[in-house]
Amino acid sequence: MKFYSTNHSIPPATFEEAIFQGLPADNGLFMPENIPVLPDTFYKKLPGLALPEVAFEVLSPFVDEEIEPEVLKEIVEDVFNFEIPLVQIKENEYALELFHGPTLAFKDVGARFLARCLSHFSKKRKEKLTVLVATSGDTGSAVAHGFYGVPNIDVIILYPSGKVSAFQEQQMTTLGKNIIALEVDGTFDDCQHLVKQAFLDQDLRQQKNLTSANSINIARLLPQNVYYFHGWGQLPGHEKENAVFSVPSGNYGNLSAGLIAQKMGLPIKHFLACSNANDTVPKYLTTGEYTPKPSVATLSNAMDVGAPSNFVRLLDLFDSGHSEMTQSITGYSFNDEQTKKTIRKTYMETQYVLDPHGSVGYLGMDDYLSNHDFAGVVLETAHPIKFRDTVENEIGKELIMPKHVDVHNKEKESRPMNTDFSSFRAFLLEG
Ligand SMILES: *Cc1c(COP(=O)(O)O)cnc(C)c1O
Repeated sequence: MKFYSTNHSIPPATFEEAIFQGLPADNGLFMPENIPVLPDTFYKKLPGLALPEVAFEVLSPFVDEEIEPEVLKEIVEDVFNFEIPLVQIKENEYALELFHGPTLAFKDVGARFLARCLSHFSKKRKEKLTVLVATSGDTGSAVAHGFYGVPNIDVIILYPSGKVSAFQEQQMTTLGKNIIALEVDGTFDDCQHLVKQAFLDQDLRQQKNLTSANSINIARLLPQNVYYFHGWGQLPGHEKENAVFSVPSGNYGNLSAGLIAQKMGLPIKHFLACSNANDTVPKYLTTGEYTPKPSVATLSNAMDVGAPSNFVRLLDLFDSGHSEMTQSITGYSFNDEQTKKTIRKTYMETQYVLDPHGSVGYLGMDDYLSNHDFAGVVLETAHPIKFRDTVENEIGKELIMPKHVDVHNKEKESRPMNTDFSSFRAFLLEG
């Protein structure tokens, strides 16, 4: 399958080209040229399939001309080697727990798939690659772990100083080896902007072999379809035809992936796009006007994005039709008070522990279900322990670190960086 740019001013790319380029040269985003509808036989057997089997079936049509089936099988078995369980919260409310991977957030899925695909292709290419990634917290740790020790690939992470949790910072800055962390004196949007500038600098790109591991990379996005299928497959039979998915959103990669799953025939009735105070997309859904703005800091900091990078993918999926988009997606925005209150209330009423991102998604779902007779699935995007202080404060109970997480007390290693592109450029060239 080929991948086109949403700006349509470059020829379509192969999967390999698209994932190495990250961002197309015309500054659009890559999208699959056609979105295959999976056969009824697949949906019939789906509830009985193991997660890697679902992944194999869902991802094959996108990559099967370029990755041999045996290799894809190995890749997905390696990527999806943790559970993604659907957990019931209340009668018709479920959480799809995406946080059982190594860094306890859903971004492990995309980061691991991208790392393994790049590594697969770079074996043939025999060239050194530099992966740039801007992060508001979770992407950096997922990418760092996904690429840790992968030969021929260096990873440079840019994160906003003082704006990520201590746990997130520890996960990004203590690995060493091929993982370099830059502590940027600015916001997440500044980090994202530096990365974008680097990609648009043709001279720099000639000298350094740069690619991106942000959710703009199509190899991050595609495997995120998989858990929509897997979550849907775990719903009780009578709920399957009536499911809405609530997606706590920042850069809107997760929501784009869900919409692609729906286009592949997954019968999801409706999507809820839930944001914190950074409400650019919910505002667009209600008013039809898109006004990106600087991000504001919230408790659900992985969603502190004022100019969401995947918005162009949303537009592309709906041929820029605002009313078509609003038929499929309802937007919500909630503040930190509501987020905290919902963590407390949900725990008291159901014993289910939400993290701040899941709480934002839960708020939207609970509101929507109060006047729609559907079953709701909220994507629980991070383990509550990643936001330990906030969550423990609300539930009045200590959280337990999952056994597989390595909480070593290694030294933090990061390099300070300002928001001026010339310093970043110089750093890249000297490295
Ligand atoms: C990144 C992230 C989000 C936002 O996902 P997008 O795909 O950028 O919309 C939500 N929750 C958590 C915990 C995240 O890390």
